[in-house]
Amino acid sequence: MLSTIQVDLDSLWTYDRYRYKQMSEYPVDPVYSQSLQSFLDLFAKYKVKATFFVIGKDAENHKQIKYIKTIIDQGHEIANHSMNHLPDFADLSLTEIKQEIVLAHNLLKALMSKDPVGFRAPMFCINEQVLCLLEDLGYKYDASLMPSAVFPWLMSTAHSLLKLKLLWINCGNIRWGKAPRGIYHPDKQNMANPGAMKIKEVPVSVSNVLRFPMHSTYVFTLGKFLFDSGFNFCLKNKLTLHYVFHAIDLLDLEAYSVRLPGFKSLTKRQLICEQIVKKLAVHSQVMTTEDLILIGKGNNGLHSAAGI
Ligand SMILES: [Zn+2]
Repeated sequence: MLSTIQVDLDSLWTYDRYRYKQMSEYPVDPVYSQSLQSFLDLFAKYKVKATFFVIGKDAENHKQIKYIKTIIDQGHEIANHSMNHLPDFADLSLTEIKQEIVLAHNLLKALMSKDPVGFRAPMFCINEQVLCLLEDLGYKYDASLMPSAVFPWLMSTAHSLLKLKLLWINCGNIRWGKAPRGIYHPDKQNMANPGAMKIKEVPVSVSNVLRFPMHSTYVFTLGKFLFDSGFNFCLKNKLTLHYVFHAIDLLDLEAYSVRLPGFKSLTKRQLICEQIVKKLAVHSQVMTTEDLILIGKGNNGLHSAAGI
């Protein structure tokens, strides 16, 4: 089985934004100074290469540049996670969306000395208009589609429990509930269907029955069996597994007064994260999303016809 490990390098200021708080002003965001190194150590220990989705605004901070360069020097992929990680990303004007993508692209390109080829929208907030724009800009893949009808509901529930700014946030889309689980070329009119676009969609892997995301927030909340059952499902159905971490998964949240539903102590989270990386490293071939796309491997979405 093939797999990718994807890390959304969302800084603490992105979480402050949802909590009515003034955005934190750290010289170096703790996500960069602390949890990033924990992820790099974990990936080095199990000899796996991952894809890091980086926010352009973070690449503007000259004190954080050395951390991003470390990711590159260690052979991991850097992909574009927009300039400002704005909520309701897909509802911005086309001009604003283009600016969000291009500004981050240029900052990351300068650090990487090559063009980033992958994109993930903030909060998995994507639509066909954004996808067409990414294709026009030369992107090889988008990884913003969460093929789950329960995901928007889960995110809204979490936000209302935490009394965050938006009770109904624009996360994912119920329309993607039956989208393919494997990599596919989407249709321009409805990106949940396979079609003729050049760009490839790399959906986040989801569990078998209810399509819970293969995403650490849900694994911390529901238990590691969620990962194990999703892993077994992908193995059985010859699907490539795309697993999503967030940088805060390995951050000492208490030290920064951050409370997130389902997040256990740092020690427990470290254990779960290591178990997941170890299982992927031992029982699958882990590669960066870019490498997977460029060699043309990975499931091509044919399983969508069978509804799996
Ligand atoms: Zn993000």
